[in-house]
Amino acid sequence: MKPNNIYPPQRTPGMNCPRCRNFISTSIDELLSADYLRCPTCNLQLNIDRNNSRKALNTLRKVGEAQKLVEKNSKFNG
Ligand SMILES: [Zn+2]
Repeated sequence: MKPNNIYPPQRTPGMNCPRCRNFISTSIDELLSADYLRCPTCNLQLNIDRNNSRKALNTLRKVGEAQKLVEKNSKFNG
């Protein structure tokens, strides 16, 4: 398998699990479309409250769009 992700994982979106404190990595697309996240370590289900999270989700959406632009414009690398 050839990795096609050229970005270092320093901006991996996600959150720390409130139960086991393990970092739950996800993707912006997943956050925008999924109803909940599940911690892979302790299986805690974290519901995404879209009403209360609307501002954060809008910010995420903008970040996601910006990242896609960056992927297209490789001259911004580095
Ligand atoms: Zn957990």
